[in-house]
Amino acid sequence: MNAAHHNPIDSGTLAERDLRVLWHPCTQMKDHETLPPIAIKRGAGAWLEGTDGKCYLDAVSSWWVNLFGHANPRINAALCDQVSRLEHVIFAGFTHEPAVRLAEKLVALTPSGLTRCFFADNGSAAVEVAIKMSFHYWRNRGRSGKTRFITLANGYHGETLGALAVGNVELYKELYKPLLMDVLTAPSPDCYFRETGESWEQYSLRQFEHMERMLADHAHEVAAVIVEPLVQCAGGMRMYHPIYLARLREACDRYGVHLIADEIAVGFGRTGTMFACEQAGISPDFMCLSKGLTGGYLPLSAVLTTDDIYAAFYDDYAKLTAFLHSHSYTGNPLACAAALATLDIFADEDVIERNRPKAAYLGAKARELKTHAHVSDVRQCGMIVAVEFVKDKSRREPYAWTERRGRRVYRHALEHGVLLRPIDNVVYFMPPYVVDEAEIDLMVKVAADGIERATCD
Ligand SMILES: *Cc1c(COP(=O)(O)O)cnc(C)c1O
Repeated sequence: MNAAHHNPIDSGTLAERDLRVLWHPCTQMKDHETLPPIAIKRGAGAWLEGTDGKCYLDAVSSWWVNLFGHANPRINAALCDQVSRLEHVIFAGFTHEPAVRLAEKLVALTPSGLTRCFFADNGSAAVEVAIKMSFHYWRNRGRSGKTRFITLANGYHGETLGALAVGNVELYKELYKPLLMDVLTAPSPDCYFRETGESWEQYSLRQFEHMERMLADHAHEVAAVIVEPLVQCAGGMRMYHPIYLARLREACDRYGVHLIADEIAVGFGRTGTMFACEQAGISPDFMCLSKGLTGGYLPLSAVLTTDDIYAAFYDDYAKLTAFLHSHSYTGNPLACAAALATLDIFADEDVIERNRPKAAYLGAKARELKTHAHVSDVRQCGMIVAVEFVKDKSRREPYAWTERRGRRVYRHALEHGVLLRPIDNVVYFMPPYVVDEAEIDLMVKVAADGIERATCD
């Protein structure tokens, strides 16, 4: 026997074994010295069960992906059925029914004018596809000077280098700046910063003036504007009024610039409509979808775009106008089957309508926290509700990030059987749509107690 065979590599708890060989996302691994990773053995509905039997209510949909609960019977059955027939096939030169049906459904569901669907594997990859396609479109149309992108302050579009470049959450971006393309950044319409007495609509309109000026000055060199419609999720669930999107659509048309709607987080009912763009009555030139697309089962993303953009790439091969971007797992049949089952649930169970009273209940419960001495804001957009806490409520002065008070809420919630994952000092709820009122009561109560504990000194 060799030495490796004697090495008790699989001895210890799962958390101990994990920390010997794994490196987790978005984590300072040293933090696990005080709070080891939590090993989960199964999930059911909105709940996760640890290997030690302790249960956690998944108030963040496992990073915003889960829609209809863990181990959803209908999605499980669709996956089992698909895996017994075709797990994967090369998607260049070949096709299959799950991909065709999913593309047909996405074209039908998304705002009018989006008629083509390009698949990728995750949200960041979808953003890369959209920005490459936009640039390439202008080049194929003889406008090779359009090489830049306009983004919003506090926006987030993923972690790969192109997606990171068009995002503006400093914590993720600052260090990598030497590697990133230069972008134009407009101030955010984020209504947290409106004046007292100013409405969301007034503030978002006022902020749009900056975007208008930036377009006027730079349209000749700009391929596209990229935004997260209505909610800047990773930027702390900051929200704005749909009027901004309506104005932006109109201005992008006027200046000859594409509009990329990154609905990776807000799509599939999170904002109260199937897609956030619907609330502004607009169709973007590109819509990026992922996260909820497969109900939280498998990595898959889609970029929806228009006839006009598709046509700019369609020509004889020798013209070299084709979009040659590819991912090995493009159009994976298992992921497509999970997505189809997810869309079937939306259709058969009238999900958007049935979420309305749930969202109202969640919002009303959360707004009770408004009177807390350290809560500066409780905001809501459909099934997304955020509670922001600060050091000084009257001046809206935040706690220093180095105090990591959100982490205290995280730990408190875990102790009390709820998975909350505050973004800095923003505690938010983005639950799977299967939560009931008792579960909403629990998550809000635990959040309230957690905020109390995190702000008591
Ligand atoms: C999560 C997210 C992304 C990135 O998606 P990944 O699948 O994590 O790469 C992009 N844009 C938005 C708005 C997101 O919330």
